[in-house]
Amino acid sequence: MSELRKDPTTRRWAIIATDRWKRPGDLRGGAGKKVKRACPFDPGSEEIKKAAVYLHWEHPEKWFVSVLPNKFPALSYEGLPKMKVKGMYTTIDAVGGHELFVDTPRHRASVATMSLGELEAVLNAYRERYKFWMQDDRVKYVLIFKNQGKGSGASLVHPHTQLAATPVVPPRVLEELEKGERYFKVNHECIYCDMIKDEINGKQRLVRESRYFIAMCPFASRFPFELMILPKRHSSNFIDMDFDELKDLAQVISWLFKRVKEVLSNPPFNSLIHVGPQYAPNLRFFHWHIEIIPRLTEVAGFEWGAGVYINPTPPEAAAQILKSG
Ligand SMILES: [Zn+2]
Ligand SMILES: [Zn+2]
Ligand SMILES: [Zn+2]
Repeated sequence: MSELRKDPTTRRWAIIATDRWKRPGDLRGGAGKKVKRACPFDPGSEEIKKAAVYLHWEHPEKWFVSVLPNKFPALSYEGLPKMKVKGMYTTIDAVGGHELFVDTPRHRASVATMSLGELEAVLNAYRERYKFWMQDDRVKYVLIFKNQGKGSGASLVHPHTQLAATPVVPPRVLEELEKGERYFKVNHECIYCDMIKDEINGKQRLVRESRYFIAMCPFASRFPFELMILPKRHSSNFIDMDFDELKDLAQVISWLFKRVKEVLSNPPFNSLIHVGPQYAPNLRFFHWHIEIIPRLTEVAGFEWGAGVYINPTPPEAAAQILKSG
């Protein structure tokens, strides 16, 4: 089993694969070892029907979205997340879940080319899996994320999303929760709600406003063309969304990724959803959102060392470019 280890100097967590660890030659891409084989996620694959924990069928012969347990999970499904403290070091067994969403049967599709129906089905699948994991009290947090394209960290070409259910709340999320709570104590308002109002009024960094959502380039964007999608209605959890809102979100995502593809020549990207922790489904001070990072620059020494990112494209300029299409 892998384990979560807490760095005593920074309190950051790392998942260490203690059993399936890689030797130096296996790291750095393992050049020359790639074997061309049929994609296991294409229509007709038996693997999907056999292993799926969730399947959305459009009609009896055609599935839209399928969710499978990850073949090489970073977190194992069985066991209890036991915490062990040895002197100054803390570990927790990496128990939880690691799932793979096959977003569409179409191997060559991408977020930009998926139909609204396909995107709605994927968003609905996210919602169903969030709900499923809420019932598991070993799990403190569910992170849904997506890597697409070469350079994004994706090891699959087929359009997919991942879900990691972890026994601890990730530090990035804790940081947002703590800052949100502090702001709420002083201002009696959600910091994200205030920011949304401000961005709608200012318009400088606003990329798209729909009935229920906004898409914007954050004020202190770390990366060029970094994007954030937020619901206009306050909510700390994705599963809160009703069907009208979900349909609206699919439209915003479709429009946005089409623009990103056009303007930035189909860049690799990472995207993720930040929601509140599993055990606190309704928080006044936290507001769920999607973060999207087109991978256009490398994270280098200064960023690693300082935790400060050098962004060569002001978010105001990025928003104007994306908007005027
Ligand atoms: Zn495929
Ligand atoms: Zn809010
Ligand atoms: Zn966030």
